[in-house]
Amino acid sequence: MTASRFVVQLHDATRLHFDLRLQVGEVLRSWAVPKGPSLDPGVRRLAVPVEDHSMAAGDFEGVHEGQQRGTGAVIIWDEGAVQIVRNEPGQLSFVLSGGKLSGRFSLIRTGERRWILVKARDDSARPGSDIVTELPASVRSGKTWQQLAAGAGGG
Ligand code: MN
Repeated sequence: MTASRFVVQLHDATRLHFDLRLQVGEVLRSWAVPKGPSLDPGVRRLAVPVEDHSMAAGDFEGVHEGQQRGTGAVIIWDEGAVQIVRNEPGQLSFVLSGGKLSGRFSLIRTGERRWILVKARDDSARPGSDIVTELPASVRSGKTWQQLAAGAGGG
């Protein structure tokens, strides 16, 4: 069996946000996570479900043209393998093996368009840490979204 993949993209749109995408079948189930994931099990992050994306969308790193607000820059902040360990209406638990994120996480539905992303208390948990501030750059290019946006605009 081939492992499924996950990607977390950092996207400078109207508001800077992270897009968490988990492969389920042949699509990427997706949530917008304004503050991004955390390895601190005490931190609960809002995750707003958005439409499924194609597998190809998870490979995009670059600058979206014509975005109304924000620079449109997208970096692949993290990626790797995901194993879905629980998939029920209103709850998804999964184990990530990425460059920055690892171990078990859960997404729990708490409202109409409102889910919470939380890290499980396992060996990869890092209480008190702030991974998105510690490691802001792309796992593919090593660039931050600001560097990518500056490069695109400087031509
Ligand atoms: Mn987005």
